[in-house]
Amino acid sequence: MRIAIVGGGVAGLAAAYELELARRAGAAVEYALFESSPRLGGVISSRSTGGTVIEHGPDSFLTEKPAAIALCRELGLGESLVGSDDRQRKTFIVVGRRLVALPDGLMFLVPTRLMPTLLTRLFSPLTKLRMGMEWFHGRRSGAQDESVASFVRRHYGQAAVDRLADPLLSGIYGGDAEQLSVQSVLPAMVRLEAEYGSLTRGMLAARRRQRAAQAVQTQAARATTPPRTIFTTLRGGLQQLVDALIGQLDPECVHVSCAVKSMEHDASGWRLRFAERATERFDGIILATPAWAAAELVRDVHGPLSDELAGIRYSSSITVNFVFDEAKLPELPPGFGFLVPAVERRAMLACTFVHRKFPGRTASGQAVLRCFAGGARGEAMLGESDEAIALRLREELRQILGIVGEPLLTEVRRWTRSMAQYSVGHAARVGRIREQIDALPNLHVAGNAYDGIGIPDCIRLGRQAAERLAWPDGKPEGKPETELKTQPQARVEAVSRAK
Ligand SMILES: Cc1cc2nc3c(=O)[nH]c(=O)nc-3n(C[C@H](O)[C@H](O)[C@H](O)COP(=O)(O)OP(=O)(O)OC[C@H]3O[C@@H](n4cnc5c(N)ncnc54)[C@H](O)[C@@H]3O)c2cc1C
Repeated sequence: MRIAIVGGGVAGLAAAYELELARRAGAAVEYALFESSPRLGGVISSRSTGGTVIEHGPDSFLTEKPAAIALCRELGLGESLVGSDDRQRKTFIVVGRRLVALPDGLMFLVPTRLMPTLLTRLFSPLTKLRMGMEWFHGRRSGAQDESVASFVRRHYGQAAVDRLADPLLSGIYGGDAEQLSVQSVLPAMVRLEAEYGSLTRGMLAARRRQRAAQAVQTQAARATTPPRTIFTTLRGGLQQLVDALIGQLDPECVHVSCAVKSMEHDASGWRLRFAERATERFDGIILATPAWAAAELVRDVHGPLSDELAGIRYSSSITVNFVFDEAKLPELPPGFGFLVPAVERRAMLACTFVHRKFPGRTASGQAVLRCFAGGARGEAMLGESDEAIALRLREELRQILGIVGEPLLTEVRRWTRSMAQYSVGHAARVGRIREQIDALPNLHVAGNAYDGIGIPDCIRLGRQAAERLAWPDGKPEGKPETELKTQPQARVEAVSRAK
């Protein structure tokens, strides 16, 4: 079976890697990966300069989602995995020109400790009373999907939307709490509401269960299991993962600067059309592009599917890495960084103190402040020059943190239409997309548009799609271990040279 993978971000690369493993294990598959841009990795891009890692896109993945860590270990990157320094994990919220710490005991949006919630300066006394009353919220299940803002408002009031939900979600999704679907973005909260009514009561019950489970864990097991950090990354930057994946692929099978223009399907299989009218035939296709690009590709094959894919909205984001001489900075508040609520009407959405979050990746004496802008409400900024963007964000850093010194280095990156927005009704839309795709032979989609925005979910979906094509009757048990090649860098260079 000849399989084409369209899109060379992490989802497409993970799919290609799984097909490569299947081929080595004896499955009758050949594959070809097509990436429109000159480089692989999609939004993952990092570089090291003088001992400081600069992440232009994502900087880490959630430790509790296993697919990324498992893949890194498989690729021989186990030694390079590093956890976040969670002793410093405090997040601040911008209020006017001040930073106010999120109260201790806040579990995502849910306050679980009385005193810190009573003492925080983030909320007015009236809002605190409103939040306390949430304890008596009634159960609600089988309800229609609704926006995160409406869900949070029902439980904790508008101030919790403005000061918590909105900044947290624009930090993760570049999204708008009034648009994002609670069922897709906060499914655990929806389950808590169905079971307990009150999220606070539900969260406390979940924590009690977790503690009881920990108590029965044997002393020995506790001694051998290191505490899990919230985030994990790679010492040399996430580009290491991209390079290691490329290193496993056959350079002849990877085509960069090679956009797929359209697709056709007939009784003999699939045909991909490239620029200058060239076409190629395949038996199976994995579309690992953003959904809007997949929508264009399937337009002539299945109109309703194309419309559903096109209906998934995207936001764009801008990252700006500022490297400073730490000695010339005012003292930064103790934490990972801060979030900026939309009600503050600033250009910046969030700022991470990278040297605190992952201390081993910044040269001694330097501080890296990674700022985010753009998002669902800041598209217009994408049209500004790098200099103008950096200047605006530096002015906001001056107002919020008192930073006046010149950075040693500034790097601006734009990621246009890169973050899928799981809007209200997203789960139902993805259900329809899956049904329509299942009716087309050997077609799969993967990437951040469907079932998880983060890197681990993209890897999981890419590998699953490849596995289903390579092993249609199920992956054989006890499949022979495939030997990993040991010189990934040589292969990365071969892929680059071949194009
Ligand atoms: C700024 C930023 C910060 C983030 N931070 C984190 C984080 O810290 N942790 C985390 O887990 N996630 C984070 N994410 C999300 C995560 O990085 C992405 O969801 C994930 O990397 C997307 O991978 P992908 O392969 O689905 O898509 P992409 O990386 O977008 O790759 C899709 C590829 O398809 C190609 N393509 C499009 N059309 C065609 C065509 N017609 N023919 C051929 N190729 C085509 C594109 O050029 C692109 O390379 C972040 C995202 C951004 C933008």
